[in-house]
Amino acid sequence: MKFIRYQDSNGRAHYGAEQPDGSALRIDGDIFRMHRVTAEPAEIVKRLAPVVPAQILGVGLNYRHHAQESKMNVPEVPVLFVKGINTVQHPGDPILIPTHLPSAEVDYECELAVVIGKACKNVSRERALDYVLGFTCANDVSARDWQIRRGGGQWCRGKFFDTFCPLGPRLVTPDEIPGPNLLKIATHLNGETVQDWTTSDMIFDVPALIEFLSGSTTLVPGTVILTGTPHGVGMAAKPTPRWLKPGDEVTIEIEGIGRLTNPVALEPASA
Ligand code: ZN
Repeated sequence: MKFIRYQDSNGRAHYGAEQPDGSALRIDGDIFRMHRVTAEPAEIVKRLAPVVPAQILGVGLNYRHHAQESKMNVPEVPVLFVKGINTVQHPGDPILIPTHLPSAEVDYECELAVVIGKACKNVSRERALDYVLGFTCANDVSARDWQIRRGGGQWCRGKFFDTFCPLGPRLVTPDEIPGPNLLKIATHLNGETVQDWTTSDMIFDVPALIEFLSGSTTLVPGTVILTGTPHGVGMAAKPTPRWLKPGDEVTIEIEGIGRLTNPVALEPASA
């Protein structure tokens, strides 16, 4: 199943079930609970992020080659950080470069996002995928200045700005993605491919992450886990870093899921 979320012409949000021909049928109810695919064609005026996260957990330095380019040691346990639910952005809507608390070093990170469907705790890696509702593309946008030099020793400030977590364009259920660690993953910046790798390079694979993150910790339905980014981030570009700027367009692409595209703009001045 491929779930989408969309807005209709009355401004109401619905879930939909995408069909092989690209159309979609409206879903009655909530995909985390009882729901039913109707026979009614989805009236899609605008696509939304496919879920409204209950929380967003990020895992840092989870690809071997990215840990190397960041000049960091390969971690012995997953590196956990959090992103606020304020960071969610819809497909096609802009990533805003912070201007009120300004950043000059905004970067992209393509990531496989795992959406937990059922509450779980102390899950073994063998059972981990039983609790996954689906997978989608994420861009773990990061202001490196606020993440690294001005973050007080942890990463949350630099990863917590509004619009810093585009999600989409669809949520694909695990029966269609039986091997989440066998997927091509890429970032295209203004049409140029800048990250191009595979989820098989993860240091901690998806089941291992769920086992670790659920240890003594309830993962509530709607928890979104960002599983880390491969090498090729703008911070590590040679000869100079490649920061996002207004007018750019960033696309995250994952095999079996699709393409998530967002323009880049400046945060408007507030009144
Ligand atoms: Zn990341």
